[in-house]
Amino acid sequence: MISDRSFSSISQPFVLVEDIQLGMCASQADIWQYSEEIQSSLEHDINSLIRQKSLREGLNSWKRLFDQTSIEDSEPAMQGMTNKIPMKYYYGVEDHSEVGWQEVVLNRPQGLLFDTAMLYHLFGLHIHANIRIFETLASSKKDSRIATGGDGILGKEHRTRRWTNVVCSRQAIWHASNIVAIHRSRFGRLTGQIKVVNESLDPIAHVAVAVGSLVVWAYCYFNEKGCAQCIGPAGISVEVELMDILTKNEDSEKWIELGGLATIDGHTLCRCNVEKLVQVFQDCLPSGVQKWDMADTLSGVLNKTV
Ligand SMILES: [Zn+2]
Repeated sequence: MISDRSFSSISQPFVLVEDIQLGMCASQADIWQYSEEIQSSLEHDINSLIRQKSLREGLNSWKRLFDQTSIEDSEPAMQGMTNKIPMKYYYGVEDHSEVGWQEVVLNRPQGLLFDTAMLYHLFGLHIHANIRIFETLASSKKDSRIATGGDGILGKEHRTRRWTNVVCSRQAIWHASNIVAIHRSRFGRLTGQIKVVNESLDPIAHVAVAVGSLVVWAYCYFNEKGCAQCIGPAGISVEVELMDILTKNEDSEKWIELGGLATIDGHTLCRCNVEKLVQVFQDCLPSGVQKWDMADTLSGVLNKTV
């Protein structure tokens, strides 16, 4: 827990996490435009690849600053951080004579850090995966009124199958896995009243979880590789547990570059585990009235797994 001293100290210079979030938001229009363009462009079109690289680098420059950001004196394990947010700016009308007032204040910048991380990974999903195609495919599996044999659907399935074989798909899976890991880290630490207040996720986190589930569904459902059960004992036996390597840059990059079977929570990313993997994302969303219908609209695979 942070000390009273840390609430009264201030250090400069720093960039507010709100500014980092705004900086990331500035790329939203470009990402939207890119998503529009790739609907009609050819696979591996050079202009699309250049555009994608530029978007990724722009987003990553904000991420590097975000990685250097921590809450002043609140996380001793993060002593190497150079961008420390002074707690002083997050005071509200708390009664400082009441036990636990620091936790209420601390929750504000922590919530912003959480939102910003979710936004980064959500944009990462849109840069590396054709979310619109996945939405259509998920709807076609769920709703029999959409003709599944049409050229449009078959073409989209073919395109998604090819996507599961390229680096982009693993970059998207890496972003989706991070969304689950960050959610667990944030909610695992919350206690009491703070937990109740935060249980209804904000829109960014809600959308990130929904889109993440869609990406994992598409990767597993249209992947021709799989576990021993899918393709027989001759299949690849070495598997990487994504939840273990997310914070290890070298291991993550190696898997993204080279591929190979991977697991989330021990479930191999393959067709036979689609339901269990979608459930991992479902578990991140609040239930009952706190759950927004938006999640089901965005991701046709939540609640009703195909
Ligand atoms: Zn399998």
